[in-house]
Amino acid sequence: METFPAMSNSSLDFLNQKLFCPHCNTQLSLCHSPPVHVGDGLGWGSEYLFICLNNDCSLFANGWKNIENNYGHVGSYRYMRLPDSNEEYNMMVAGKDAFTGSVVDPEAIKNQNVRYQKQKDAIAGLDDCVEKKDLTPVLYLLLDNHAALSDRERAAGCLEPINSPDCIEPLRNHEFRDSNLEQTINMAISSVLSANFLKECPYCKELIKKRADLCKHCNKKME
Ligand SMILES: [Zn+2]
Ligand SMILES: [Zn+2]
Repeated sequence: METFPAMSNSSLDFLNQKLFCPHCNTQLSLCHSPPVHVGDGLGWGSEYLFICLNNDCSLFANGWKNIENNYGHVGSYRYMRLPDSNEEYNMMVAGKDAFTGSVVDPEAIKNQNVRYQKQKDAIAGLDDCVEKKDLTPVLYLLLDNHAALSDRERAAGCLEPINSPDCIEPLRNHEFRDSNLEQTINMAISSVLSANFLKECPYCKELIKKRADLCKHCNKKME
């Protein structure tokens, strides 16, 4: 999956902008900025640009002739605007496909950032989760395979002190990619079970009293 840099929510307003090309009235596409500003050799000052990708746009269609006549090689212009700004440019492009590969989906960027914010909140929540007996930030990080391993290890370390059997079901249902983390979690689950006088039924995996002879869920007899 493509990753996007973290941004504060306020700077995401441009993702809701709908801008239209003054030459052809087509809605502009949001694209990754090229690394270099063709005009002056500096960066664009923005990660993203709004660009008219309509091949029938008069600027683009006429630009081909214009550049061919003036510079002797084939190329054209695309209309573009900077996000959250009135700055606009006619950007020289070498061909039709110059920006089509860098089109981004505003919804994907928003989702990525919602997740980033939640992750940040969860990391902050680890500070007093033991005191509050709050599993929420702990489980959020442990169940997010994209969170940093160091944060997830810290979260795993909170399972035993919080000592709530509620952590067991969601953790057992999750597939962990890091075997060390998985082992730490399994050990923590064992401690939580034991401290709560519980065990997992070997047949149906439901939690039952450690001293039960019969599973109250599947009725099987314990060895
Ligand atoms: Zn246009
Ligand atoms: Zn059972």
